[in-house]
Amino acid sequence: MYETKSIEQLEKEFDVDVNVGLSLEEAEKRLKKNGLNKIESGKKKTKISVFVNQFKDVLILILCVSAILSFFLKEYVDGTIILVIVFFNAIVGTIQEIKAEEALEKIKNLASPMCLVKREGKTCIIPSSNLVYGDIVVLEEGSKIPADIRFIKTHSIKVEEASLTGESFLIEKNSVELNEQKPLAERINMGFMSTTVMGGRGEGIVVKTGMETEIGKIASLIKKSKQEETPLQKRLADLGKLLGILVVGICLVILFISIIQKRNFFEMIITSISLAVAAVPEGLPAAVTIVLAIGVQRMAKVNTIVRRLPSVETLGAVSIICSDKTGTLTQNKLSVIKKWSSNIDETLLFEAMTLCNNASIENEALGDPTEIALLEYAKRNKFTKKELDVKYIREDEAPFDSKRKRMSVLCKYNKQKKLYVKGAIEGILSICDFILKDNKVVSLTQTEKEQILNLSKEFSLEALRVLSFAYRENVNNCDESHLVFLGFVGMKDTPRIGVKESIAKLKKAGITTIMITGDNIDTAYAVAKEIGIASKKEECLKGLELDLLDEKELREIVKNIRVFARVTPEHKMRIVKAFKENNHIVAMTGDGVNDAPSLKTADIGIAMGISGTDVAKESSDMILVDDNFSSIEKAVEEGRGIYANIKKTVIFLLSSNIGEVFTMLVAILLRFPLPLMAIHILWVNLITDTLPALALGADPKDNNIMNEKPRPLKESLFANGGLKTVFFYGAFITLLTIGAFVIYPLTLAMKQGNVGLISSLCKIKEIFTNGINGLSGQYILSNSQTYAFTALGFSQLFHMLGMSNTKQSVFKTLKNKNKLMLLAFGIGFILQFIVVEFTPISNFFMTASLSLKEWAWLVLISSLPLFAHELFVIFKRN
Ligand code: ATP
Repeated sequence: MYETKSIEQLEKEFDVDVNVGLSLEEAEKRLKKNGLNKIESGKKKTKISVFVNQFKDVLILILCVSAILSFFLKEYVDGTIILVIVFFNAIVGTIQEIKAEEALEKIKNLASPMCLVKREGKTCIIPSSNLVYGDIVVLEEGSKIPADIRFIKTHSIKVEEASLTGESFLIEKNSVELNEQKPLAERINMGFMSTTVMGGRGEGIVVKTGMETEIGKIASLIKKSKQEETPLQKRLADLGKLLGILVVGICLVILFISIIQKRNFFEMIITSISLAVAAVPEGLPAAVTIVLAIGVQRMAKVNTIVRRLPSVETLGAVSIICSDKTGTLTQNKLSVIKKWSSNIDETLLFEAMTLCNNASIENEALGDPTEIALLEYAKRNKFTKKELDVKYIREDEAPFDSKRKRMSVLCKYNKQKKLYVKGAIEGILSICDFILKDNKVVSLTQTEKEQILNLSKEFSLEALRVLSFAYRENVNNCDESHLVFLGFVGMKDTPRIGVKESIAKLKKAGITTIMITGDNIDTAYAVAKEIGIASKKEECLKGLELDLLDEKELREIVKNIRVFARVTPEHKMRIVKAFKENNHIVAMTGDGVNDAPSLKTADIGIAMGISGTDVAKESSDMILVDDNFSSIEKAVEEGRGIYANIKKTVIFLLSSNIGEVFTMLVAILLRFPLPLMAIHILWVNLITDTLPALALGADPKDNNIMNEKPRPLKESLFANGGLKTVFFYGAFITLLTIGAFVIYPLTLAMKQGNVGLISSLCKIKEIFTNGINGLSGQYILSNSQTYAFTALGFSQLFHMLGMSNTKQSVFKTLKNKNKLMLLAFGIGFILQFIVVEFTPISNFFMTASLSLKEWAWLVLISSLPLFAHELFVIFKRN
């Protein structure tokens, strides 16, 4: 119904003057009364559903089946303990997942949308959630419409309403009242929350907020985007499934062997359960989720907000970074330092600078930095926007877009209309037929145009950004032809501090930085040279030259190009594709509406937090809070660190599982009793392993991480010796555990019969069954199992210390001060001590109390994996 009301009626209804906006006090009042302008969409995951989801894991299901089987076999203690531990795991998993989600949510809120609003006569930026009805919002190309509005001013504003109506073509809006009520799609003077401005500018009065908006009414229909799994998480899930199949396979093998060995059926089932338990890396999914969540938090600290979890991983594999120039590599604090015109009274030039301009420097500088620089320059020369805006009424505008690279406004003064145009000099000159020379309009020849271009080139070579101006009298619309050239200015934009160093650091890490800019080739090259992106002119390519190349030629040429100048957003797409086809992993920055496709095409789209439009942010994987290129470098470093930590964690956990499975298999093949009970294995997997896995995940980054080449994206976690590490340490831990298991009966046999090692080894099975020296078999077995259990637990802890950095000595690693690692080590020790030595608990675990001497040698043999690690480091160094 608002579509049929006049602006005056709306002003009355909402008690607001559209030129001034609400008072701060009134806005506050309305906010309190009506609540935040927010859509509560979809159902949130409840804690219960997160908990239930923990049981959907194949591996956990295997454990549940094992528990049920144990109950059937009347092994109540085993069954109960398996269930308790499974539940404990599910609770820990739930807490971790909820915490991780909360952390991610918090980080996402950092990137919550803002909007431009007029209040008390000033334009200011506020969070969109604080909008109230009656507010006057200012919309620009790329803005998301923050509430339901009725347009009061429009300049060729085009809106995409697909999110609401499903129509993907753009609808041009205006502010004229309709004479009858219309269906949603035909209300062309209204703008709806969550639709986007794809071009032009406009202002509107907020008529509905939050759940009362059109989109709010259908909010329940909005699908909450599912939390995406990262490729790594998917691969790990596959690995989990594979392990599940393997477990079943191993159990069948055991069944087979047991039948041959004529073991009894009951014992065989118990063995299978224990093996299943051993093979399942229960802590793995939780550990990876946590490492990723820690990573996202770390990235937020270096000013990058991760919107899609997979990008954390991809970042570590990036080999090309395509960056904008203005604002990302440079400070975007522009100031005009030079001007050229042909001996004229400069009033017209300054009028063009000021009137053809949408920025404001009244209270605070608001708007495009290029335009702010022009206003400041004009002000220094006594031309202010405030005064000129009163004199000249703006009647029409052809907004700036990065394809045309210019904008124009039609202004009326004393019944006379004038068109002012500003933009990139090549384009402006091409539509000028005249020039103002000695205050007279004379025609502009081709030779003169070339001379002017050459003059501007001198500005560009000094790394100045050139902007030119023209005008035309007696026109009725924004017809940008037959213009009169006025002159041009050169603006300085210094590179950001630290950018040069970041580019050098990336280069060392095998990552090439490419500059893609809308600016002139000479300016771009001058800046690129200064910051170390390019060293010769041949490394630069113009958009126009790019147009002449087909995809194949482009693929070849991009190999040697470092600077792309005067490009349009379509060019950006082609450039990204060409790099991708050359097998690069490409990160790409963007801010405008038209950058959205290339942000999506790139492996990682990075939107600008400050200058980025809502559209760019929504299409991106990551947002740079401070628009600063150096943050990308830090994020890549974090990305690599996170990947390395996940890799370590996975290898650590799997080598531990392999150790357990091998231990059991070896014992079965040697016809020994089982060295570990199911609960021992579960204990080691879930308690002793969890903290170390987390500690590895939280490891600080390796200092050398940026001296390595980027890893191929599809590289397996087990590449570069990863698989060997898993098996080597798995086998080593097996050896230790079996060693600890047999040492007691072995020494007893050797003492008694004073016989050799081999014959004593042969006797072990018998000793476990019948006892020796008046000691019962059961007593000896219980002791031996305690040894094996403790050696297994301890050796994991020592193994963790080595895994933290496989390339350097543990003494150096510990200097990194990962307190969590020392904590994990200490707690692991204490917990193991408790289950062995403290009575009610040790009864459950059926462990035997150990003497100080026994503890001492167990610690000693358990530390052997760490010795192995140190030896490797020494060998590799030499
Ligand atoms: P980058 O792509 O690195 O951010 P850029 O800011 O130069 O560089 P665009 O914003 O696409 O890229 O601008 C391209 C060209 O358009 C500029 O070099 C300038 O000549 C012209 N231009 C920029 N801003 C305006 C503006 N507000 N009005 C008119 N012309 C502009």
